[in-house]
Amino acid sequence: MTFQDFNFADSLLDSLLAMGYTKPTPIQELAIPIILSGKDIIACAQTGTGKTAAFLLPILNNIIKEENRHLNTLIIVPTRELAIQIDQQVQGLSYFLSVSSIAVYGGNDGSVWEQQKKALKEGADIVIATPGRLIAQLQSGLMNFKQMKHLVLDEADRMLDMGFNEDIMQIASYLPKEIQVLMFSATMPPKIRTLANKILKEPEQVNVAISKPAEGILQQAYVVYDSQKVPIIQQTLSSGAFKSVVIFAATKESVKNLNIALQKVNIPSQAFHSDLDQSEREEILRAFKGKQITVLVGTDIISRGIDVEGVDLVINYDVPADPEDYIHRIGRTARAESTGTAITFINEKDQAKFFQIESLIGKDIEKLVTPVSLGEVPLYQPQKKQERKFVPKKTFKKKGFSRNV
Ligand code: AMP
Repeated sequence: MTFQDFNFADSLLDSLLAMGYTKPTPIQELAIPIILSGKDIIACAQTGTGKTAAFLLPILNNIIKEENRHLNTLIIVPTRELAIQIDQQVQGLSYFLSVSSIAVYGGNDGSVWEQQKKALKEGADIVIATPGRLIAQLQSGLMNFKQMKHLVLDEADRMLDMGFNEDIMQIASYLPKEIQVLMFSATMPPKIRTLANKILKEPEQVNVAISKPAEGILQQAYVVYDSQKVPIIQQTLSSGAFKSVVIFAATKESVKNLNIALQKVNIPSQAFHSDLDQSEREEILRAFKGKQITVLVGTDIISRGIDVEGVDLVINYDVPADPEDYIHRIGRTARAESTGTAITFINEKDQAKFFQIESLIGKDIEKLVTPVSLGEVPLYQPQKKQERKFVPKKTFKKKGFSRNV
């Protein structure tokens, strides 16, 4: 199949050529004809599959055919990073088209709010928004939704996880009844179906390889004690083979601590977490995309949606709590058919979680041998209950008060 098969306008085909997209990805092959036919759709696809272009291309093709242009499409996303990124993809894909878009998200200063307000009032073709900020702008009464043709809910599962259910329903209440709704989600838990039942009309459903990491990712793991993790990172990066590395840690505190520990061993890393303000976050992502930063340490905030080409190594400093998050994290590498490596550290208490991940993806992930110089490592026995070590109880007595420790 080629992009010509969709009967796209020539100017859109020129943009695709300029972007270097030679053929549609599987989600594009499945979703584009349905979206072009005007039906609602639920698409189960992870980031990295080309899902953004799967909804943007048919929408752009429809917009350029319109004679009276007005606000045509609203795309709702969970995070500002994803909003900015989709906005950039709209700009890339509409290079040869005159389509306008604006990203509407919070966390910036008053002048940006005014800028967003102005663009909404003047009517961009496509608005990409996070739910909270959109509701604030809606309440200011500036947006005219009457003629809107498409609503896209991107990363719908993530939005529900983040507690945006009511906001989404409130936004939907402003929309015209005959709007076409496109819902994209990496997973399909029951709550997504409930939301779909409320907002979509007789949707077609398409799935691409649910919960399977991209083919091009070499997945490996080390079974370790926590103290062995930084020395292994140091050794892995010392060869200089990896030029763009993302290291995930569970919380922003562990991100900050790990970043300090890496810098102590002369790894020039950069932390990325929600305590940074919006402009700092954008600057860091720009520098990482531009390869001025080699090692980015972050929480799951960067595991979804953030699109950086050429990440060649992802390290999971700990095992993510949710197996789906593992897939999202390692999906930062090997984007769009390139290759990459994902290494996960499994300490004693993460073994059961890692086993769940292996079950989900249906294979054992290769366990690498820890360098002998780092000493003994724990056994990988995820299904065996951790044997309790016998620790004799000491009794402290203090002023007639005793406790066991
Ligand atoms: P996404 O799943 O939307 O996050 O897209 C992942 C990456 O694939 C992005 O960098 C897109 O620019 C790229 N991409 C999307 N569609 C294609 C295609 N048909 N051919 C090559 N790259 C693509």
